[in-house]
Amino acid sequence: RPALVLVATPIGNLGDLSSRALAALRDADVVLCEDSRVTGGLLARQSIAATMIPLHDHNEAAQAPRLIERMKSGERFVLVSDAGTPLVSDPGYRLVRAAIEAGLTISAVPGPNAAVMALSLSGLPPHPFLFLGFLPPRGGPRAAELARLRGVERAGLAATLIFYEAPHRLAETLAAMAEALGADRPAAVARELTKRFEEVRRGTLGDLAAHYAVAEARGEICIVIGPAAEEEAAGAEELDARLRAAMAAG
Ligand code: SAM
Repeated sequence: RPALVLVATPIGNLGDLSSRALAALRDADVVLCEDSRVTGGLLARQSIAATMIPLHDHNEAAQAPRLIERMKSGERFVLVSDAGTPLVSDPGYRLVRAAIEAGLTISAVPGPNAAVMALSLSGLPPHPFLFLGFLPPRGGPRAAELARLRGVERAGLAATLIFYEAPHRLAETLAAMAEALGADRPAAVARELTKRFEEVRRGTLGDLAAHYAVAEARGEICIVIGPAAEEEAAGAEELDARLRAAMAAG
């Protein structure tokens, strides 16, 4: 029996709570969560009265040894996020490492994840993909991160890219992406997935940046960007060879 179970919860539609997720929550002695009001609401709707302990990025490392001791003494723990799959741009990684190092058995109940849902609806190549989570919120560090990413693409990375972003930053982030990665890159903005106003808008980064420069973006958002074109990703030697071949042919 696992000492720790990582349980995915809905990203907006309560119908996505699986029967295995419910069973794991019912079975738990302690539910580790981000915001006990959010998880408390979920548990109350299912008439589950579990003890909740908040786990955040800033207290996770300090809490982990105590939690591991309790797991060793036989208490059953479940880890959930406010929404979606734990550890994916959410707390839990340090606890998972600590549990593995302590030789404890861990398991997971898979389920909703915004990044994978956005990828599958984007119409962009699903493989290979690179999940990058949130970019830095401030303009300077964000531009530096995008420039670094462009450098990696120039060195040969040709993957679909997935990001999370807050609605109030969407317009400026799309503009920065268009500038750094190319306005003609195919992309998609996936909004409010699994919810009433679910929407996937597909177009080039330039189109999407222009759209959201004037349209207000509401709700929760993922950005998916198609891979850099092969020519762009080719190395300098390859480009030289192609140029020589083209000139010889001309
Ligand atoms: N662990 C979560 C998961 O598995 O998707 C992600 C947690 S992260 C803190 C929250 C971000 O995920 C949001 O800001 C948004 O970018 C994205 N997200 C979460 N729910 C979403 C939804 N229903 N539609 C689109 N994006 C969503």
